[in-house]
Amino acid sequence: MRVTVIGAGVAGLTCALELSARGASVEVFERAPQLGPAACSWFAGGMLAPWCERESSTPLIAELGAEGLTWWREHFAGTVWNGTLVVAHARDTGELLQFGRRTAHFESVGSQAVTALEPELAGRFSQGLYFPEEGHLDPRAALAALAARLAERGVPIRFGVDAPPRAGRAVLDCSGLAARARLADLRGVKGEMLLLRLPELQISRPVRLLHPRMPLYVVPRGQGLFMVGATMIESDEATRISARSMLELLSAAYALHPAFGEAQIIEIGTGVRAAFPDNLPRLRRAGGSLHVNGLYRHGFLLAPALARRAAGVLLEGRRYPEVMDEDPGERRLA
Ligand SMILES: Cc1cc2nc3c(=O)[nH]c(=O)nc-3n(C[C@H](O)[C@H](O)[C@H](O)COP(=O)(O)OP(=O)(O)OC[C@H]3O[C@@H](n4cnc5c(N)ncnc54)[C@H](O)[C@@H]3O)c2cc1C
Repeated sequence: MRVTVIGAGVAGLTCALELSARGASVEVFERAPQLGPAACSWFAGGMLAPWCERESSTPLIAELGAEGLTWWREHFAGTVWNGTLVVAHARDTGELLQFGRRTAHFESVGSQAVTALEPELAGRFSQGLYFPEEGHLDPRAALAALAARLAERGVPIRFGVDAPPRAGRAVLDCSGLAARARLADLRGVKGEMLLLRLPELQISRPVRLLHPRMPLYVVPRGQGLFMVGATMIESDEATRISARSMLELLSAAYALHPAFGEAQIIEIGTGVRAAFPDNLPRLRRAGGSLHVNGLYRHGFLLAPALARRAAGVLLEGRRYPEVMDEDPGERRLA
């Protein structure tokens, strides 16, 4: 089968790889001139945290996410698998209890264990939750590695062009929020992030700091770089970070460790996550294409499991009721 994949974000690239690995002839079209900030994927934290994400999602996300975590470990050598640490200051321990009630696969840890995991946090947190089976990656390195893998397999990525209509090819639309013209119930959720440089601070795994108003996470990127994220704002405006968000992200980083007060701000980024009303991902047939969309705040975590299912639908005619639905617009027309 010949397949056109629209979009070179994490969904498009993982789908292209799965399809090609199963023998399809694939080409990818990306409207931007290169892998980069046109894709929401560019701004992701890269946390592969199926059990932490359970806090604000359904068991489906943990199931698909556990599959995704394994996929990344097998397909991307840069995947780090050393868990997630969740902490809260003494006045916010109620947040920690709630987080624990809503999640699974963690160990409750005291200050000694926090120190053993992250020595730089010694004496700062008396309680935490450790999710040992979670991982993380650098999204930009992961996208580049996927693109390189596709090139090795002879799968072209045609940059700078919208996918042209092609007779005789199946179309897999992974265009993120741009698909809103065809998927009317898709919406944007803005996420703002910072990239900070602080070589003096050694943190080896994602650390989430719970707080009733501004929960934050810090993901180490190596070489003294830290991604600090992320806001969740019901908006599809991706041009600028607000002063309030900047203040909150920096204050929370400082509350995690005061050394962040000395960090250099390397990058300020905003991406817009595409989400359906229930914040769950979909494989949906609409307008003659199969869409993979609505990856919301879990795109790296979920993309591999969705890619496998998209390949199963296109190449084997399989159905996956847990992620497939009808286009509500087409239902109305019928
Ligand atoms: C601040 C922030 C932090 C996040 N942190 C995490 C995290 O830690 N872990 C996690 O799993 N997820 C995280 N996410 C979510 C994740 O980034 C998204 O779910 C994911 O990037 C969505 O990927 P996508 O491929 O569907 O869309 P995108 O990455 O947006 O890719 C779509 C691509 O399609 C292209 N395109 C659009 N229209 C066309 C067209 N007509 N022709 C050709 N190309 C087209 C676009 O240019 C774009 O490159 C985060 C998101 C944000 C904003």
